[in-house]
Amino acid sequence: MKYALVTGAARGIGRAVALKLVGMGYKILLNYKSNTEAAEEVLRAVEALGGSGELMRFDVSNREDTERAISQWKAANPLDYIEILINNAGIRKDNLLLWMEPSEWSDVLDTNLNGFFNVTRLLVKDMMVKKYGRIINVVSLSGIKGLPGQTNYSAAKGGVIAATKALAQEVAKKGVTVNGVAPGFIKSDMTADLDEASLKRQIPAERFGTPEEVASLVGFLASPEASYITGEIISINGGLYT
Ligand code: NAP
Repeated sequence: MKYALVTGAARGIGRAVALKLVGMGYKILLNYKSNTEAAEEVLRAVEALGGSGELMRFDVSNREDTERAISQWKAANPLDYIEILINNAGIRKDNLLLWMEPSEWSDVLDTNLNGFFNVTRLLVKDMMVKKYGRIINVVSLSGIKGLPGQTNYSAAKGGVIAATKALAQEVAKKGVTVNGVAPGFIKSDMTADLDEASLKRQIPAERFGTPEEVASLVGFLASPEASYITGEIISINGGLYT
């Protein structure tokens, strides 16, 4: 059995990625923070596609919680390893820097940037030993371009972009690739509060993207066909200038 861990898999992009990977023959470990009802719905959708999965509730921003969950899984599955890691869990807490509370800064950095470290550090060794692995980080246009009102989020995603490029060089010779996908505006709970009608006028494609469109790109990067692509950040944004 081949395993893939998707963080933040209960909703939005993570949910769509989990369903994509089922179609590629992976057993899916569905991480989420607190929304058990939504995570259970994703598990049912995985099973409806003929796949299988398990829920892994932990907070990626909490190092101890993450270690506990992953080491429990490893103890229960001593002969297996997690071949694909999708670092997708993320939050935004937008504010102008002038008004930004320290908690808004640290919550966003802890989840989006430290979450990448907390999970990846526990899985990369097995991938290197087995000489095959795929790490895909869901970053953002905001981390490439910088967006006003998002200094916290742009800093966090920019940090993951730089870490993607650095880690890719550390592990390439072991058959492990590390890439990022950088969505623009995608329809999900995270963007539900945005004024889509006005924002879509800035987008050459004149619409928000769908989680399924992001999942297609992630699926390709997670496939054996993408074996010579590493250290890349691929934008998926309907033509928004980055
Ligand atoms: P979403 O609909 O808000 O879903 C976020 C998911 O992440 C949820 O399943 C949530 O768990 C989980 N999560 C949040 N904090 C977590 C934590 N500390 N530990 C574990 N899981 C956590 O978001 P989305 O739009 O699908 O975004 C997915 C990723 O794409 C994020 O990294 C986001 O920054 C990035 N992104 C999104 C857009 C966009 O337009 N939507 C654009 C660029 C980048 P619960 O369900 O338990 O709350």
